[in-house]
Amino acid sequence: GPLPARGADQPPPLLSFEFFPPRTEALEQQLWACIRRLAPLAPRFVSVTYGAGGSTHARTHATVARLASETDLVPAAHLTCVGATREEVDEVARGYWQAGVRHIVALRGDPPPGTDYAPHPGGYEHASDLVAGLRRIADFEISVAAYPETHPSARSPEDDLDNLKRKLDAGATRAITQYFFDTATYLRFLDRCLAAGITAPIVPGIMPVSNFAQAVKFSAMCGTRVPDWLGAMFEGTEDDPEMRRTVATVVAAEQVRTLQANGVDEFHVYTLNRPELTHAIAHILGVRPRPANTQA
Ligand code: FAD
Repeated sequence: GPLPARGADQPPPLLSFEFFPPRTEALEQQLWACIRRLAPLAPRFVSVTYGAGGSTHARTHATVARLASETDLVPAAHLTCVGATREEVDEVARGYWQAGVRHIVALRGDPPPGTDYAPHPGGYEHASDLVAGLRRIADFEISVAAYPETHPSARSPEDDLDNLKRKLDAGATRAITQYFFDTATYLRFLDRCLAAGITAPIVPGIMPVSNFAQAVKFSAMCGTRVPDWLGAMFEGTEDDPEMRRTVATVVAAEQVRTLQANGVDEFHVYTLNRPELTHAIAHILGVRPRPANTQA
């Protein structure tokens, strides 16, 4: 049936935002303009990704440290197992704790393209091992990754769900999902989590589609199905950036509202360091700037 109208009794959702660490001075300017634009929306936290192979460690750290010291946002640092010994990873985590960072998004990370994953000798093998290691270091809040459409290299959906449970049992308190467009698939995944005894929040990762062709390419790599209706929505918008933004905003806002109608009240938005779509989506969902939170 039709979506329920968002009434005064339905509070706006809780949002968190994800950024990636800037590689150049120009990208750094872009990121901080984005942060200043989104900060007044008072996200629950903002997270900063960690590059493949741990390559961006210094940039991730610098971005997170600046968020911690210069803004009143709550930063979360992504951290992976790849390319480093346990001691090296632990050292990074201790550095975060000392910088006042209390939230880690603990991940395995990916191998270089075209190769199979192999743990670093002396490194953490799986994200669940990293979670256990972090618990030994400090009382971090720990988020982990979940895959409504199953991680591409999992032996089976059941195995992948067992793995999610292992990460939560090791001390993570919530999961953030890989992005998805097929909302029904996520809702079935939630049911499977509940049946497996998982009670931690499984926060949907929301990807506003700023470039459809790129989204198709990226989705193939991470196992996200791109439904035909999404392609049809973007058809004919190749030379019309304004229409593309409108479609992207409507699609994501509608997805969030469908999820809200099904009881989900918290969302993690992949901003790609661009504020416009995220800001527009938040506005439609009833999230309004708060003057007290503007000092980014
Ligand atoms: P794990 O939970 O370790 O699982 C990886 C695979 O191994 C799964 O198939 C799982 O089923 C399997 N597995 C786990 N344990 C076992 C076991 N004991 N025996 C057999 N199989 C097992 N990547 C980055 O490099 N930097 C980032 O900042 C980053 N941020 C992300 C944020 C989110 C919200 C998400 C969803 C993903 C992110 N990624 C990031 C991508 C992530 O690193 C990859 O998806 C990676 O391939 C898996 O990471 P994981 O933490 O899910 O691994």
